[in-house]
Amino acid sequence: MHAPLTAFITLICTSGVLNLYLCLYVCRKRHNYRDIANYFILYTASITIYCFAAAFGLMATTLEEMKFWTTIQYIGLPFAAPFGLLFIMRYLGIQLKRKTLFLLLLLPFVSFLMVATNDFHHLHYKVFEADSVLGIPYIYQEIGMWYAVHGIYTFACMFVGFLLVLSRWKETAKIYQPQLIALMCSTLVPMVTAFVYLIGITPPGIDPVPMVLWLSSLLYLWSINSSRLFRVMPIAKDEIFHSINDGVLVLDASNHLIEFNHASQQMLPRLRKNLFGMDFREVWPILSGAPLPSNLESVKSQSEIELTVDDVKRTYQVRTAPLQQAKGLLIIFTDITEVKSLQLQLENLAYYDELTRLYNRRAFFEKCEKAFNNAKNNAFPFTVILMDVDFFKNVNDTFGHFAGDQLLIHVARICQNQLQENLLFARYGGEEFVLGLEGKTAWEGWEIAERLRKSVEEHPLRTTDGLVSVTLSCGVAEAEKVPEETLNLVLNKADKALYAAKGEGRNQVVIFSGKEKNLREF
Ligand code: GH3
Ligand code: MG
Ligand code: MG
Repeated sequence: MHAPLTAFITLICTSGVLNLYLCLYVCRKRHNYRDIANYFILYTASITIYCFAAAFGLMATTLEEMKFWTTIQYIGLPFAAPFGLLFIMRYLGIQLKRKTLFLLLLLPFVSFLMVATNDFHHLHYKVFEADSVLGIPYIYQEIGMWYAVHGIYTFACMFVGFLLVLSRWKETAKIYQPQLIALMCSTLVPMVTAFVYLIGITPPGIDPVPMVLWLSSLLYLWSINSSRLFRVMPIAKDEIFHSINDGVLVLDASNHLIEFNHASQQMLPRLRKNLFGMDFREVWPILSGAPLPSNLESVKSQSEIELTVDDVKRTYQVRTAPLQQAKGLLIIFTDITEVKSLQLQLENLAYYDELTRLYNRRAFFEKCEKAFNNAKNNAFPFTVILMDVDFFKNVNDTFGHFAGDQLLIHVARICQNQLQENLLFARYGGEEFVLGLEGKTAWEGWEIAERLRKSVEEHPLRTTDGLVSVTLSCGVAEAEKVPEETLNLVLNKADKALYAAKGEGRNQVVIFSGKEKNLREF
């Protein structure tokens, strides 16, 4: 065997062994790595086959053996570049659909078939024979049509892989850049060698690519061990941007739309890339019927808007944040529909009486305290009315608790219908109701209470057991314009007046006069 041939075989075997080692090493540890390890295993496995078959090819003694080992080479060779590309894509977070994946691997498979059946059609090698000068195992070949397709395809896969890595260079954090260097160099090594081979600079009759692949393997080994390839990887910022649940729109310094993420497109389905470059004030009416979020002028702020998405009304919190370097603005839409409805439910539970849907006692005190203080500060009159259903216990006893409940709802509705919407009307407890009247005197309060009393008297509740009539007794008290006056004191006075009304025969309205007897005497 010639000395250079032995050197070639040694080099090729070195590549094969290193790739086999890499393949087994990653395979053994693949549970510790992310799923990109699988593509790497396939990539190194196909190179291993390629290298060893090339080495055996160089040990061939007949043309038939050379053809056989070339066919074996093609079990690995055409798949190496696309697997390498797939590996790089997964590394960079680029996902391919199954169909694309299938198409990407279809061509290498055809290349293998072409080589295996070349003697029948000569589409891959027009001529494939031993070199007439150097003899076996050196090959003299004339390439066929499919060889060109296969060559361009292989080259394209490597080139695209290289460009993809290069395109991420700028946005990749410094600590990951050694990984990118390793990936780029290991793609560049076979690419440059294949190119040199094609232009005929390398020794004739031998494919030099497997002789240099050990270089790529060393780079991968270094990368796996020193910069922890497979374990820590840069996640493409694009991927982060598009996987945020919040909708994000990016405006430049002059408020032109320059970017948006997938989530924002779901919230605003008319958002399209052809709107890029347009002023956001023109873009917004195209996107939504809602008024422009009010806070766009200020650099750091938040507001809420309602948008209809898939025929469902949803509430979004709109925040803006400045872009430091580009001097632009981020507009961030966060879906708060569920939070809002929960908040509403909590508010309902906290502020409304479950049975009558009126304000409850807590809400009444919270709101009435404010109204009372406002009236006090401005020297407005302030009056409260306490109302109690007469002989309500009899209703419960005669018609049952359910009818009693219905009657409470009925009384609440009658009163509500008589009152202006903004009045502070609440269920005070049991069968008692209360009304806080800011700006009204005791006599004005009396008129209102009389109206309510009459209305309740005139509207009995219709039940399955017949009509249920009830009446109201009311106590009215106006706040004294003295500094010591408090809401509780006024309510106490109204209570006294109410019990005076009970004492005087019920179904009447009494204004507190100060001459009432003590409470609970009736
Ligand atoms: P008075 O004219 O003196 O006010 O007589 P009354 O029977 O209305 O007063 P009393 O305080 O003796 O009875 C009030 C009753 O109201 C007692 C209680 O069981 C009933 N009650 C309180 N809250 C509810 C409620 O939510 N639903 C029903 N059905 N009954 C209630
Ligand atoms: Mg009562
Ligand atoms: Mg009562």
